[in-house]
Amino acid sequence: MKTPLLLLLLAALPLSAWGDKGHRVTCALALEGLPPGPRAWYVGREAEVEDHASDPDHWRSDHKEGPRHFFDMEPYGGPDHLPRTLEQARAQIGGDYYRKGVVPWIIQDRWRDLVDAFRSGDASRVAMATAILSHYVADTHVPLHTTENHDGQATGQRGVHSRWESGLVERYYSQDAVKALPAEADPGILDRPWDWLRASHALVPQLLEDDRAADRTTPLDGQGKALRSQAYWMIFWARQGPAVKGQLRLAGKHLADAILQAWIEAGKPGWPPPPRS
Ligand SMILES: [Zn+2]
Repeated sequence: MKTPLLLLLLAALPLSAWGDKGHRVTCALALEGLPPGPRAWYVGREAEVEDHASDPDHWRSDHKEGPRHFFDMEPYGGPDHLPRTLEQARAQIGGDYYRKGVVPWIIQDRWRDLVDAFRSGDASRVAMATAILSHYVADTHVPLHTTENHDGQATGQRGVHSRWESGLVERYYSQDAVKALPAEADPGILDRPWDWLRASHALVPQLLEDDRAADRTTPLDGQGKALRSQAYWMIFWARQGPAVKGQLRLAGKHLADAILQAWIEAGKPGWPPPPRS
């Protein structure tokens, strides 16, 4: 049977991050960490935020969307040489820069959208802007979204991307395993995505090493395809569980920081709005 073209195209796209569950967890942790002022805007809208947190992964039929979810560091010479503006990115590596990922700039844009939403006084707009911002913030906390070897293709570990961000989360993550961290105002929030990405990038070597270690007992079928069993997943989770939980916790915290700072930037608007006199 011929594989439909659409499926081939989908397979060629960069993989989505965290899966739906991880994106929902990020939102839940963030809202839990908010102080009462901004938190009031989301009362009764928590599900709305979570339900739309994966929307950007469904926009990938637009070929410009894929690179909005990651940022490859190697083309720039590693984490110490990252460009801060799109102009710098172009100057460093030329017209190819967009394909290497633009997530930090997308976060800046979506954060400004959230400020506008708070200013508009429309709580459903705030919920939607938060959901979209949450997606890209969460993506920066997936280590494999910071490297050209994003699916282990350079190290013979194809599929490690979804094994880490979806496979482990879906199998083992339980909501009460992670406590939300309280939001902190951060006037430098627009500079933070680079810090989040660098911290994620530092986790890549151990993640790949642990996947290889977990795979040591994995048998191959006649075609050389790995037949991963429960043993693989248990070993991978034992080694990477703390990193998965830690990154989700940080994603929630950093999203909460971004929401709090957007609310402050908008002039700390109250919800519900005061009655007109
Ligand atoms: Zn994504």
